[in-house]
Amino acid sequence: MTLFEKADRIGGLLRYGIPDFKMEKWVIDRRLEQMQAEGVIFKTNVSVGKDISGEELRREFDAVGLTMGAEQARELPIPGRELKGIHLAMDYLTQQNKRNAGDTITDEPITAKGKRVVIIGGGDTGSDCLGTTHRHDCSEVHQFELLPEPPPERAGSTPWPLWPMQLRTSHAHEEGCDRQWSVSTTKFTGHNGHVTKLHGQRVGFESGKFMPIPNSDFEMDVDLVLLAMGFTGPVKNGLLDSLGVKYDVRGNVAVDENFMTNLDGVFAGGDTKRGASLIVWAIAEGRKMAAGVDKYLQVGNSAKKLVS
Ligand SMILES: Cc1cc2nc3c(=O)[nH]c(=O)nc-3n(C[C@H](O)[C@H](O)[C@H](O)COP(=O)(O)OP(=O)(O)OC[C@H]3O[C@@H](n4cnc5c(N)ncnc54)[C@H](O)[C@@H]3O)c2cc1C
Repeated sequence: MTLFEKADRIGGLLRYGIPDFKMEKWVIDRRLEQMQAEGVIFKTNVSVGKDISGEELRREFDAVGLTMGAEQARELPIPGRELKGIHLAMDYLTQQNKRNAGDTITDEPITAKGKRVVIIGGGDTGSDCLGTTHRHDCSEVHQFELLPEPPPERAGSTPWPLWPMQLRTSHAHEEGCDRQWSVSTTKFTGHNGHVTKLHGQRVGFESGKFMPIPNSDFEMDVDLVLLAMGFTGPVKNGLLDSLGVKYDVRGNVAVDENFMTNLDGVFAGGDTKRGASLIVWAIAEGRKMAAGVDKYLQVGNSAKKLVS
C-alpha cells in the first residue's frame, strides 16, 4: 500500500492543524512507525493531481482511496480582505506546528506576539487559533462569531441523542479571550497595505437570515486577523474534478455502501466524504473504506456488482 501526501510530513490535520498543546505529535509518529513496519510506503511532497494524475494512479494501482480531507476554507470576501495581516487560520496553525517541529519558516512569518488580534469564527479552529495567540504572547485577543450566543445549557431544540446546541468553553477560552456573538465584519481598512482597523456591525438572526441591527456599527484597531470560519468541503478543482467523481448534495464526494465512488475501484472516506468532521469519524471511515477496498480486491470485480 502506498500513501501519497502533498505535505512534507504525514498526518494531515493531526500534524498540521491541531496544535501541539492539544495533541502532541509523538502520538502520530508512533502510529506511523507501526504502519511502516506493516509495509505501508509513505511518499511525501507528492501532490496528486499535479505531480501525478489521478488517472495514472488508477492505471498503476488496483484500487485508489481518496482521503484528502476537506481543505476548502470558507472565505470572507469583503473590502480590505487583501490587506497584509489577514490570514486563513490554517496558514497560521500550520506554520506554528512546523515551528514546533523545529522547521525554519521560509514563508512570511505569522505571529501574534505583542499584537491586537481578532479571530473571526467561533468554532474549534478559532479556539485553536486562540490558544496559539496566547502562546505567542499577543497583547489582546477577541473572537467574533456571526451566530447568536448559544444557551449555557442544552437547548430544548436539541434533545438527546442530538448533538447539544449549547455554549462550549475550551481551555483556550479559559486562558482568556473577549468572546462576542452576533457580530458581522463588514470591511477592513489599513495603512501602507497592512490592516489597521476592523469594521463591523451587530446582527440579529431571524428566520434563518442575518439582519443588521440599526446604529450598531463599530470599528476597532487590529494588527492581526485570523479567519476561522470553517471549511466548505474537499478541494474540487484539481484531482477530484479531473477524475470525474460525483458529489453529494453537500458537495462532498459521494460513495456507495462500500465507500466506492461512481468510479470503479476509486473509494473515498473521512472528511473528503463527510465534510469537515472529527478524528473518530476519519478513523472509523478509513476502516470501513479499507474493508470496501478489500472486498473489491478479493472478488477482482466491482464491490457494487457483488452486493447488487
Ligand atoms: C484546526 C483544527 C482542529 C481540529 N481539532 C480536532 C479535535 O480536537 N478533535 C477532533 O476529533 N477533530 C479535530 N479536527 C478535525 C480532524 O482533524 C479531521 O476531521 C480529521 O483530521 C480528518 O481526517 P482526514 O484523514 O479525512 O483528512 P485530513 O486530516 O485533512 O488529511 C488529508 C490529507 O490529505 C492531504 N492531501 C490533500 N490533497 C492532496 C493531494 N491532492 N495530494 C496529496 N495529498 C493531499 C492533505 O495535505 C492532508 O495531509 C480539527 C480540525 C481542524 C482544522
